[in-house]
Amino acid sequence: MSNEKDIESRRRFLKIAAGTTAAALVVGSLPRFARAADLPHLAETDPTAKALGYVEDASKTTNPKHKAGDTCSNCQFYGGGASYGPCQLFPGKAVSAKGWCVSHTPKKA
Ligand code: SF4
Repeated sequence: MSNEKDIESRRRFLKIAAGTTAAALVVGSLPRFARAADLPHLAETDPTAKALGYVEDASKTTNPKHKAGDTCSNCQFYGGGASYGPCQLFPGKAVSAKGWCVSHTPKKA
């Protein structure tokens, strides 16, 4: 079951990968000393964010795929602290620890 969810998440990621190639190129040109705290916050209006149903506050989503308690802070793609941090799906941007998107995948214990 968890494996199916992982595969589904990866499929969604691959579908949007083509659209994020340009963003990845921009990120690659950023100075190496850029810190997570310096990253601009991901806007809900960002096309990729919209495609994945990203919200800054998971408690406000109406997406039926959201499960209670799921937030960026407990997603395996999140690499930040208690407020904002990087997400592997949104290179060059910081997502909210309280946020959520349809690619949420629980951290492995
Ligand atoms: S739920 Fe996970 S994949 Fe989605 S924006 Fe948050 S950290 Fe990234």
